Amino acid sequence: MGTPFDGDRAPDAGTPTGPRPVEGDGRSSVDPRDPVSVLEQIPDAFIAFDRDWRVQHLNWKAVHLLGATRPEVKGGVIWDLLPEAAGLAWESELRRAADGSSTLHLEKYFRSRGAWFEIHAFPGSDGVVLYLRDISDRKWTERSLRDSDHFARTILASVGEGIFVLDRDLRCRLWNRFMTQASGLEADKVLGKPLGEILDLQAHAGVADGVRRVLDGEHFRVPETRDLVPTTRSQRWVDLLFTPQVSIDGEVIGVVAIMHDVTDRRAVEERLLHSANHDPLTGLPNRSHFMEHLRAANDRARRNEEFHFALVFMDVDHFKVINDSLGHQAGDDLLLQFARRLEDSIRPGDIAARIGGDEFAVLLYDMGDEVDVTGIAQRIQASLGNCFVIQGREVFTTVSAGIADGSSGYDRPEDLLRDADTAMYRAKDQGRGRFEVFDADMHKSAVRLLLMQTDLQGAIDRGEFLLHYQPIFDIRDGNLVGFEALLRWDHPRDGLMPPGAFIHVAEDTGAIVEIGRWAAREACRQLREWRTAMPQAGDLSVHVNLSGKEFVQPNGVSRILEIVREAGLGPGSLKLEVTESIILENAALVASALEELRGHGIELSIDDFGTGYSSLSYLHRFAFDTVKVDRSFVSGAASQESNQEIIRAIVSLSHSLGMDVIAEGVETADQLERLRRLGCDFAQGYFFSSALTAQDAAEFIVRSTSRALAG
Ligand code: C2E
Ligand code: CA
Ligand code: CA
Repeated sequence: MGTPFDGDRAPDAGTPTGPRPVEGDGRSSVDPRDPVSVLEQIPDAFIAFDRDWRVQHLNWKAVHLLGATRPEVKGGVIWDLLPEAAGLAWESELRRAADGSSTLHLEKYFRSRGAWFEIHAFPGSDGVVLYLRDISDRKWTERSLRDSDHFARTILASVGEGIFVLDRDLRCRLWNRFMTQASGLEADKVLGKPLGEILDLQAHAGVADGVRRVLDGEHFRVPETRDLVPTTRSQRWVDLLFTPQVSIDGEVIGVVAIMHDVTDRRAVEERLLHSANHDPLTGLPNRSHFMEHLRAANDRARRNEEFHFALVFMDVDHFKVINDSLGHQAGDDLLLQFARRLEDSIRPGDIAARIGGDEFAVLLYDMGDEVDVTGIAQRIQASLGNCFVIQGREVFTTVSAGIADGSSGYDRPEDLLRDADTAMYRAKDQGRGRFEVFDADMHKSAVRLLLMQTDLQGAIDRGEFLLHYQPIFDIRDGNLVGFEALLRWDHPRDGLMPPGAFIHVAEDTGAIVEIGRWAAREACRQLREWRTAMPQAGDLSVHVNLSGKEFVQPNGVSRILEIVREAGLGPGSLKLEVTESIILENAALVASALEELRGHGIELSIDDFGTGYSSLSYLHRFAFDTVKVDRSFVSGAASQESNQEIIRAIVSLSHSLGMDVIAEGVETADQLERLRRLGCDFAQGYFFSSALTAQDAAEFIVRSTSRALAG
């Protein structure tokens, strides 16, 4: 492009060729009397047209704008030079300006120049004068401001947070779409309103002050609230954060409030909390959650004498049988139905929980006296101990329950649970399907049990066991034939204890195996001693009781054989007694063990006969030498006809199978006489003698044999 003044009339002031001079320089060369010279200096384009729209004058800036040289431009028609000037509104307004009927003032984007112009047109002396100022910079700034404003509004509208802005008077100046959604309040209802009309400041003391402090530059947060924004959706939980709105100059010009809806997060948290606290199968509170309730109730009882509560601990009777026979799915079904019935049977406010596999517990609040507790326990039990339909089958089950009264307040809630558990075990012991209320004696006996378990360890080594011997007589000739060795524990603190006081504990802990071995050895040793000391003892035998546990031991039989071998007694001198009940528990195992023992010439007696089930059939199936008729038939023998018939049947069957019969617990001459008539072979009991110490037994041997000799 050529220079603006090339070859044409140069301004009188002699404006230099080349780029337009900077303002300061240019102004110094302006001749104020020459209007053309002035026009050359102004930063805007200036063009004068004649009435035919041909260019008459133009300044340097205009030449530059039109992108041509001055000679090219001179005489050109406006519509050719400035295509943007053609166009409906523009053109007609330009024409009107040329008429002098109006002036034109507009802003227009010239695509051909890539720039914005502010355009003024007014009538000239011979046509129209156009005056164009490049306003691109201003336009772009405005545009970007508008864009960023639009951008901000778009974000505010689409963001998933509530945002509102307050001015320094705490009046609402902005309210975004989410605020409208969350609160149900339209923007036009809140804009311009003071904070007090937007939030419930009455119910939330301190919020107004907190927001005011934000104007001093602080931040202020209202965590997880539900009713601060009094709206139609007030069931939502929100977090509110107030931060200062700061201008470019760093001044706090208002408060920006951001409202975060945390309802969903809270719901997830609540679900998680629920699953951590509840049993997945039944939906009941689990053990740890139940313990929290228990702890709270216990604390309350300790503070407040008036507050009474009780704990019921329950266990489904024979659940394992159901689970094993019908399958786990059936077991789950049962537990589920059980849980529902349990929930239905308690009062609102009481708490039922699943504590373990088939263990449930209930907290009964605000109980009166014990009568109430047992009444409720009865109701619970009535609804639970019924028929359940599991997989189309009817299943009957019962529950055993233990109740502990928490009203006095325990030191530790765990102890309350323990006591209810102890009472529940008592209920199981008493025959299941019932409940027991815990009392201090139970605790004492539970503690005693624990102590006994400990005491039993090492009692053999400490020599605390001894045997007493009860004589056994031949009914037919009245001769002493032997003794039953009966275990005693000479406890260092509690004194001499009968086996009934500790045998079951020893069986539970397994100590019975060693104790039984000791008893057998000791009985054999004693008999050998008597035989050595007294010729009369030569034909006597000794009966030793064996626990079922000793049979079930992997090497039970060989251990027993070892003892017999050690004893060095002839065949028939040692007789082992096993109770009918152990056969019930392990029929197959016991049968083979008995066969094996018998094969080694060891005599076996079936003890307490008649107390188990279908007893008579055992006599066929198992290899016994002797049957011991239980005391319960003997003591009733005098009065009850049926007992006599039973004894008669036992005797005749036993004899036909080649077995002897011993009657236990003979206490009177009358009983003895009847047993003799019924055909019993042997007898023992208080009528003859109770169990004697070894020394008394020795004297007994001497006396009875001399009497027999005398007789
Ligand atoms: P059991 O084998 O039936 O022993 C007879 C029990 O009846 C003995 O009780 C005896 O003292 C008692 N008794 C004897 N005559 C009469 C009587 O005329 N009337 C009454 N009311 N009772 C009488 P004890 O000594 O308390 O033994 C109880 C049970 O302990 C025994 O019953 C036996 O099952 C078991 N036992 C005893 N010693 C041992 C042992 O060394 N090992 C094992 N495993 N169990 C033993
Ligand atoms: Ca016995
Ligand atoms: Ca017996």
